[in-house]
Amino acid sequence: MTRQRVTVLGATGSIGTSTLDVIARHPERYDVFALSAGTQKEALLALCETHRPAVAVLSRSEDAHWLAGELRRAGLATEARYGEEALCDIAADAQVDVVMAAIVGGAGLMPALAGVRAGKRMLLANKEALVMSGALFMAEVARSGATLLPIDSEHNAIYQCLPPTHRDGLDAHGVHQLLLTASGGPFREWSREALGSVTVEQACAHPNWSMGRKISVDSATLMNKGLELIEACWLFNASVDQVQVVIHPQSVIHSMVAYKDGSVLAQLGNPDMRTPIAYGLAWPERIDAGVKPLDLFDVARLDFQAPDADRFPCLALASQAMREGGTAPAILNAANEVAVAAFLDKRLSFTGIGELVARVLEQGHVCPASELEAIAEADRRSRALATELLSGSFS
Ligand code: NAD
Ligand code: MG
Repeated sequence: MTRQRVTVLGATGSIGTSTLDVIARHPERYDVFALSAGTQKEALLALCETHRPAVAVLSRSEDAHWLAGELRRAGLATEARYGEEALCDIAADAQVDVVMAAIVGGAGLMPALAGVRAGKRMLLANKEALVMSGALFMAEVARSGATLLPIDSEHNAIYQCLPPTHRDGLDAHGVHQLLLTASGGPFREWSREALGSVTVEQACAHPNWSMGRKISVDSATLMNKGLELIEACWLFNASVDQVQVVIHPQSVIHSMVAYKDGSVLAQLGNPDMRTPIAYGLAWPERIDAGVKPLDLFDVARLDFQAPDADRFPCLALASQAMREGGTAPAILNAANEVAVAAFLDKRLSFTGIGELVARVLEQGHVCPASELEAIAEADRRSRALATELLSGSFS
C-alpha cells in the first residue's frame, strides 16, 4: 500500500476535524500535506502543531503573517499562505493524492475545481460547489479522470448502493429511484406559526448530527435537502423525478436505491460523518473510522414520512431551480447563503430565509451555466439582489 498525501480544505470545521480524526487513526496510510481555514487562525495553528503539514492557508494576509510567526516560534517548517490562489495550489499540487473539499459555501468552488482539474481523488463535502457548477464540475471530472467520492452522508450511502458503473445512466442499471433520506430537522413537527419565531440557538441544535452553523440552519429549513437533491442529480446523472425525499427522523438509514425489480438497497449506520469520510479515504478498501457499531436493538424502530412542502418551502424551491437549469441553482445557493448569514446575524426571521430565496429566484436572470464566468456573475448578482431586498422590506 502506498502512502497517501492529503490536503484538507476547511480543516478547522466539523468535517475537517472529523477527517483529521480518521487520518490520525491510520498514520501508516496517510500524511497531511496541507490544511486550510478561513479566519480561525489559532485553531489552524493547533492543527499544524499536531499534523505538521507542508503548507497552511488562511483567507487573509494579516492572519497568514501572524501564523508564519507562530509556526517559526514553534519550530515548524510549515509554510503559511493566504487567499484563493493558495487554496487552489494546495488542492492541485503534484505531491497531493487526496483532497477533502470541506470549505462551506461558494467559497469552496474554485479550490474544489482546481483539485478536480488536477485529477485528484476528490472527497466532496462542499455540496454548494456542485450545486453552483454541476454541469461544468462533472464535465471536468470526466475530462481529468479525477475520482469523485461523495462525502455527504446521503450521497455516500447512494454511492455504496449503486454499481460502480452507475454514471452510464441509472436506467441502464435498472434503477427506479434514489431515495434521499432527511431527518426533517429540529422543527419537523412545528406549526407554520411557531416556525416564525425560531431562534438561532434552536436552529443550530440538530437532533442527530453535530455540524457547522450554516448546514445546521439549512437542515432546519430543509434547504439542505434541496441542495442535496441537486447534488444527487449531478453526481448520479439523475433527473429531479428520479429522486424522492423521504423524512426518516432516526437518521439511521443514510439513503437508499430502489431498483425496478422491487429491491431497495440501503446503507445504515450511526449518524457520524467519520463513516463516509473513512469510506472516501480508503475506497475501495474499508478502514476503522472510530465509529461505534450500530446497535439495531437500541434503534428498535425506523419511521418514514413524506416531506411537508407548505411548512418547508425551500425543498420545492431547490427542485424548481434544478428543473429550470442553467444558473438557477447558483442563484438559489447564493441567495440562501445571504439569507442564512442574515438569520445567524438576527437580521432575518427563520421563515424569512425561504421567502427571500423565493423572491431572488423570481427576480433573478437565469443564463446557461457552461462557463465559470456566467456562474460567478450569477452568484455575485444573486448576493447583491438578496442584500438589497434585505435592506428593504425583509429587515
Ligand atoms: P464548518 O462551518 O464547520 O467549517 C467550514 C470550514 O471552512 C472551516 O474550516 C472554515 O474556516 C472554512 N471556511 C469558511 N468560510 C471560508 C471562506 N470564505 N474561505 C475559506 N475557508 C472558509 O462547516 P462544516 O459543517 O464542516 O461543512 C463543510 C461543508 O461540508 C459544507 O459545504 C457542508 O454543507 C458540507 N457537509 C457537512 C456535513 C457535516 O456533518 N458537518 C455533512 C455533509 C456535508
Ligand atoms: Mg447530508
